[in-house]
Amino acid sequence: MLTQRAKEVDRKPMTFLESIYLWNIMKGMGITISHLFKKKATINYPEQTRTFSKVFRGLHVLNRDEEGRENCTACGLCAVACPAEAITMEGAERLPGEEHLYREEKYAAKYEINMLRCIFCGLCEEACPKDAIYLSQTFAPANYGRKGFIYKKDDLLIPHPIENKEAYEAALGDKPAKN
Ligand code: SF4
Ligand code: SF4
Repeated sequence: MLTQRAKEVDRKPMTFLESIYLWNIMKGMGITISHLFKKKATINYPEQTRTFSKVFRGLHVLNRDEEGRENCTACGLCAVACPAEAITMEGAERLPGEEHLYREEKYAAKYEINMLRCIFCGLCEEACPKDAIYLSQTFAPANYGRKGFIYKKDDLLIPHPIENKEAYEAALGDKPAKN
């Protein structure tokens, strides 16, 4: 006996009732039938969805300010903070006439997150000094190919708050708007 919890195997010969297995089958059916009256642990997804916890961390969203300008300045702090090295970006200088598109003088011309690497820790959101990225209450849908899990800037950017107010508010969810 290696541990105190080991249980000796019962080698007694089976009784007649045990040898026809009927009693054990009935016991098993009893357990199955009892589950018909218990609350179901599963739901009919996707028709039904669960309510996520308020602290649920899902798919990333790149934020805009109330005028619809992109908040991200491509400072790279989120990429540095990311323990999974899931974020890549390329910065660019804002040109004259682009003030309505980008809030700061520098912006992310390219921004990508590899969702196959991401562990949804939320450190990118915490590291961002510009409230430019947050983890929403939705999750990355399933996909057949690896490429489908590389989310580009267009996939991540929140809808425009003036041009598409409804979609913007839906994407914002419970997150309070702060700029
Ligand atoms: S949630 Fe964590 S792992 Fe995912 S991109 Fe942000 S910092 Fe990286
Ligand atoms: S999301 Fe935030 S931390 Fe990341 S590059 Fe943009 S401004 Fe910097």
